[in-house]
Amino acid sequence: RPPAYGVLPRPCRALVLLNPQSGAGRALEDFQAVVQPMLAEADIATTVFVTERPHHAHEKVRDEDLSQWDTLVVMAGDGLLYEVVNGLMERPDWEDALKKPLCILPGGSGNALAASINHYAGNDHVAKKKLLTNCTFILCKGLHTQMDLVSLSTASGKRLFSFLGFGWGFISDVDIDSEKYRRLGNARFTLGTLQCLAKLRVYQGRLSYLPAAPEQDTPPAPRDPPADSLLVPLGQPVPPHWTVVPEEEFVSVYAIYQSHLGTNLLMAPAARLHDGCIHLFYLKAGISRVALLKIFLAMARGTHLDLNCPHLRYVPVRAFRLEPRAAAGIMTVDGEALACEPVQGQIHGRLCPRGRQ
Ligand code: ADP
Ligand code: MG
Repeated sequence: RPPAYGVLPRPCRALVLLNPQSGAGRALEDFQAVVQPMLAEADIATTVFVTERPHHAHEKVRDEDLSQWDTLVVMAGDGLLYEVVNGLMERPDWEDALKKPLCILPGGSGNALAASINHYAGNDHVAKKKLLTNCTFILCKGLHTQMDLVSLSTASGKRLFSFLGFGWGFISDVDIDSEKYRRLGNARFTLGTLQCLAKLRVYQGRLSYLPAAPEQDTPPAPRDPPADSLLVPLGQPVPPHWTVVPEEEFVSVYAIYQSHLGTNLLMAPAARLHDGCIHLFYLKAGISRVALLKIFLAMARGTHLDLNCPHLRYVPVRAFRLEPRAAAGIMTVDGEALACEPVQGQIHGRLCPRGRQ
């Protein structure tokens, strides 16, 4: 077992990947006003890399000489960290690259990992500048630990690495439809939820999963390339010890591996950075708009499961497969859109980088 925590050296050299278009477009301003003075006090020297376009951060970390840096810091939304994780996974030395401590500072409109880490640290639920200050303070302390990653494969042959969640249906629709309101910051999700409620749809497909055995230890981190030992090819039926959900009509399916879906959405209160678990939620068709709205309101405090809504199911799993009947609806990985097709994934407990806590 690796030690529970590592600690950043001092002085510390940080490469900051910053998306100036994130959220309300104030990431650079906030970085200079809030973050930089705190990091200077903590003897953390920063070199800022401002992204100019999508995929820019991906290319940067894929090709970068990482020995120059003690940590990689992402000042943006979850979307930019998703690029960074996948860029690191494309390197031939991915196993070493993932040992580089990663840090997320909330600069976007979707800051789910930052909210999760703030929650794990035992801090009060906060948003905006307060969340940014809390996360910067956590970076200043310099403690870091490991984080689970989920490997996803699609029928068309894509292999993706995800640190936050995979979704289909309602929740993903909200995420993508509301991107046009990014300037509203986190409020974009509230507005998007109300709009998507008005045009509520049903998605057909088959969902299967491998339940998490409570006592089971996470398998050791596999080697090059990380093999998906729990999965069989998408063309074959799932193994017999998997569970196939009998219903095939859903309003939404969401597999989350951290506690927060958004700053104000505590979807999986029990989740931890490296619990080796995919927290699988699905909403069966037939749920009323009012019941759905109640679930989202309750999620602000993480009490949605206490509603005992018969349409909402939660199961901790190690792997899942989703086979949509038609290429209908949007799928998302860590909040980024993905073409709708059969997809399966499995957890790689502690495979990954160190998120910091
Ligand atoms: P938000 O939380 O507001 O969605 P993200 O940081 O998640 O912010 O970024 C959203 C998207 O913007 C990502 O898909 C990323 O690839 C893309 N992106 C990164 N840099 C730029 C840029 N300079 N201009 C436009 N888009 C960018
Ligand atoms: Mg995003």
